[in-house]
Amino acid sequence: MSKSNNPLNDPKKLSAATQLVHGGTRRSEFNETSEAIFMNSGYSYPSSQYAEDLFLNKIPGAHNYSRFANPTMEMFQNRMALLEGAEAARAFATGMSAVTNAVMSQVRAGDHIVAARALFGGCRYVVEDLMPRFGVSSTLVDGRDPENFARAMRENTKVVFIETPTNPTLELVDIAAVARIARAHGAKLIVDNVFATAMLQKPLQLGADLVTYSATKHIDGQGRALGGIVLGSKELIDGDVHTLLRQTGPSLSPFNAWIMLKGVETLPIRVKAMTESAAKVADFLADHPKIERISYPFHPSHPQYELAKRQMTSGSTLVALEVKGGRDAAFRLSDSLAVILISNNLGDAKSLITHPGTTTHARFTEEVRLEAGITPGLLRISIGLEDADDLIKDLDYALSQV
Ligand SMILES: *Cc1c(COP(=O)(O)O)cnc(C)c1O
Repeated sequence: MSKSNNPLNDPKKLSAATQLVHGGTRRSEFNETSEAIFMNSGYSYPSSQYAEDLFLNKIPGAHNYSRFANPTMEMFQNRMALLEGAEAARAFATGMSAVTNAVMSQVRAGDHIVAARALFGGCRYVVEDLMPRFGVSSTLVDGRDPENFARAMRENTKVVFIETPTNPTLELVDIAAVARIARAHGAKLIVDNVFATAMLQKPLQLGADLVTYSATKHIDGQGRALGGIVLGSKELIDGDVHTLLRQTGPSLSPFNAWIMLKGVETLPIRVKAMTESAAKVADFLADHPKIERISYPFHPSHPQYELAKRQMTSGSTLVALEVKGGRDAAFRLSDSLAVILISNNLGDAKSLITHPGTTTHARFTEEVRLEAGITPGLLRISIGLEDADDLIKDLDYALSQV
């Protein structure tokens, strides 16, 4: 058959859009077009000898328990690995279990973690509160200047953890510069890439060792299911990451893996449309007299605009803004919107607005919030798939009520 000689049989030769539709697909004997949901927990074996060989890892590719081996979960992992340019991946029940595994799998008591202090609330809890309980100390730094990481490194630093753009202020961390610092100290760089998505930023290519996602966000992209994924080298993923997942079990259900598989088929067109709209909304807000400042990585007013252009291909699907008049003005703006919904989620087809100071970051003191740029007037908008002009009209009306 001439088809077997077609170079496009190698999925690595395909572009991202094609990989996300076909990559990782494994068909059953029925040759189904859409990926099948293998909703089973265990597997039966042809003989006792086969079972013994399987548990001795002598049968490559065989499955023994869906906590760590399931065809639907593997299709999702393999598709994401292709997109990311990673050797291997493991899926998780949530973004938080993915991050917790990525961090915990690389440290033990007596080790030290350096992290940027602008982190998603749960991630900051893991680094700042949870890890020290088990003898892993941590130092949080202002991530905008790579020198701060260099200064915080110690002999026992094993992990550097960052998120860029950061939640909720969309500040950036220079991934390549921090990767060089981490490598020079023998530490692993872990990047939470939720805000950029793999469409806009590729941390592994910039020197990161592990990249994590909350698949709940843009990967599902339609507000349906929780999920997470960690990607990196075969050595790290098939080694410590796999062992911790296998033995502690924060596993993605096959049904949610299937939702994620279908979600990523449209990831490129969704992120492109959402980013284009976000840029338009940013332009509109930047010029509005009731807005103090906006934060959008590809807007020339962003203090790290040059870095944004260097490490991202576009400016993200989120926009942060500070409305004049503080908390009252921020509440009035949010409460006057008809299309944009009040919700702390992000990456959804529906545009969502959140007031971080009283929701996602309410547990921090005012001082810690201000240090992270979370002022009383700060709002974060996750731009969805609605018509950009409708979103601008919605914001224009809401601002008139402030
Ligand atoms: C949502 C989010 C997480 C946590 O993911 P869940 O799927 O909600 O557990 C981690 N990091 C970032 C940046 C997020 O936005």
